[in-house]
Amino acid sequence: MQVIESVQEMQTAAMQLRFGGHLIALVPTMGCLHEGHLSLIRLAREKADKVIVSIFVNPEQFGPSEDFADYPRTWKEDLEACRANGVDFVFHPSAEAMYPEGFSSFVEEKQVSSGLCGVSRPTHFKGVSTVCLKLFNLVRPDFSYFGQKDAQQCAVIKKMVRDFNIPTEVIVGETVREADGLALSSRNRYLSKSQREEALAISSSLFEAKSMVEKGVVNVDRVIAEITHLLSLKRRIRVIYVQVVDDETMEAVKTIQPGRSRVCVAAWIDGIRLIDNCLL
Ligand code: AMP
Repeated sequence: MQVIESVQEMQTAAMQLRFGGHLIALVPTMGCLHEGHLSLIRLAREKADKVIVSIFVNPEQFGPSEDFADYPRTWKEDLEACRANGVDFVFHPSAEAMYPEGFSSFVEEKQVSSGLCGVSRPTHFKGVSTVCLKLFNLVRPDFSYFGQKDAQQCAVIKKMVRDFNIPTEVIVGETVREADGLALSSRNRYLSKSQREEALAISSSLFEAKSMVEKGVVNVDRVIAEITHLLSLKRRIRVIYVQVVDDETMEAVKTIQPGRSRVCVAAWIDGIRLIDNCLL
């Protein structure tokens, strides 16, 4: 496994792989790797013969009052996990390498990114799209892997790839959860025992919504009311949004279409922001 910090070296290495006839997969991450990330790496290995994992805590996708400085960084463990999972290259650039002095171009997707997290984090998806476009240009991956846990991010990246004719196939991996349902997230490590217990209400309320729909409920208001009620029983939880959206456009829907509508939740558990979602 090779670790590359330089942008130019990454571009050259990827070009050599391509000229050598290899199929390349890219798994973009911010590190602090857990089973969610590793499941994407394993998926990538099924399709590509060279897997590149980027580990970059992207300052551009954090708002001014967000947790960029405190975002967990576990470099040594991440490298070990990549090695153990057959990663070929770890790309670990500095912020200065990705955004050198004078950097002034940004990508702004304006539809899919406008609702849900786009409301409370107005510059987030601009940062995500910009860094992903840079990574796509540097690596030119045949396949790129993203997790369903960040459903809106997946939709924004798919849209950008389509709008800009980027020659990569976006593959979305299922959300990996703890045995009790909590979606894995790098931010879970901030949770105390009692915060974690309350956070569990997020996934369990989503599963309850899914079971309502399986029993025939298609009324969005009823589903949202039930989730909001279940979350309101937890005193540490402050809901940012509960919304049912079309899985592709991320626009709010009035009637649930099973298999096409996704319920999305964002909430604060004290000062920790968690998101989760479930296809209905
Ligand atoms: P992050 O390091 O949080 O930026 O995540 C890197 C990638 O891993 C993104 O595509 C995420 O959607 C994905 N990911 C994060 N958590 C999970 C999870 N629990 N299950 C599946 N994929 C995940």
